[in-house]
Amino acid sequence: MAQNNKIDISIVVPLFNEEESLPELTSWIERVMKENGFTYEIIFVNDGSSDRSWEVIEELREKNPNIHGISFPRNYGKSPALNTGFGAAQGDVVITMDADLQDSPDEIPELYRMITEDGYDLVSGWKKKRYDPLSKTIPTKLFNATARKVSGIRNLHDFNCGLKAYRKAVVKHIEVYGDMHRYIPYLAKNAGYDKIGEKVVHHQARKYGTTKFGLDRFVNGYLDLATLWFQTKFGIKPMHIFGLLGSLMFVIGFIAVAVVLVLKIIDLCSESYHFYVTNSVYFYLSLACMIMGLQFFLTGFVGELITRNSPERNNYQIADKF
Ligand code: UDP
Ligand code: MG
Repeated sequence: MAQNNKIDISIVVPLFNEEESLPELTSWIERVMKENGFTYEIIFVNDGSSDRSWEVIEELREKNPNIHGISFPRNYGKSPALNTGFGAAQGDVVITMDADLQDSPDEIPELYRMITEDGYDLVSGWKKKRYDPLSKTIPTKLFNATARKVSGIRNLHDFNCGLKAYRKAVVKHIEVYGDMHRYIPYLAKNAGYDKIGEKVVHHQARKYGTTKFGLDRFVNGYLDLATLWFQTKFGIKPMHIFGLLGSLMFVIGFIAVAVVLVLKIIDLCSESYHFYVTNSVYFYLSLACMIMGLQFFLTGFVGELITRNSPERNNYQIADKF
């Protein structure tokens, strides 16, 4: 993909079995690019399609050398496809869009302008009026509300919109893996790119094919959010959370032991019937807390050993330097 000429825009399109949409999408992008005089490249990342998608991309490439393709031997997922496309992108501004024609290429010039002139690091599309079934739009609202809260990016309504624009440096400094494409703004913020904007975009019903994600997206989405939150807060200092929880358990445990001891001493001093400490609820409380406290500490120590060995532990980005 080596080119000497400056490229204004790289359009990264992850796709999985989208053969019907590709020619239409390509000619639409080509038209918009031509009308606005952009230099561009389209990077199609074929995520292990089993239909004719790859052949279609090869045919399109014959007619337009700005088209590039990367093909996976099997279906890895949207995040790996995006990450690979990001690695290859050379344009000053990188646009991602879905292949299914739900995102409109007509939005690209304004997205480009927001990055280059308004100074945004990332602009996310907002499908304000959606053409998706209710079973998807309602959980999506909940999902976005939670993501806003956890990530602290309060101005985004639609984290998972496929149509986004990035300053080139952003895509080169984030790693999208697993199903983390849903949280790219959060990843960008963690990498230090926090000028994140939003643009209302048109959304269309899927014209060809069907959605590639089922309802499990919502369960996995929440789990991924929890993981990201944890990594952001305690990724390089796991002892700060596990040590705290462990200490808390030990404190409760010690108090419970003290109560058991005091009760037993009082009991021994009295003339009446003697009770066994194993009959006291505080005995079990102290036992449980001590065991849990120890486990938290051990998890913390193991976590610290893992981060100590992580090649990422001292990767910082330099914003400026003389
Ligand atoms: N996609 C992909 N790999 C996958 C699943 C999806 O590259 O494993 C692509 C898909 O072809 C489309 C985009 O990701 O271009 C968004 O997928 P889809 O339209 O099915 O998602 P939805 O719009 O229903 O959220
Ligand atoms: Mg779609």
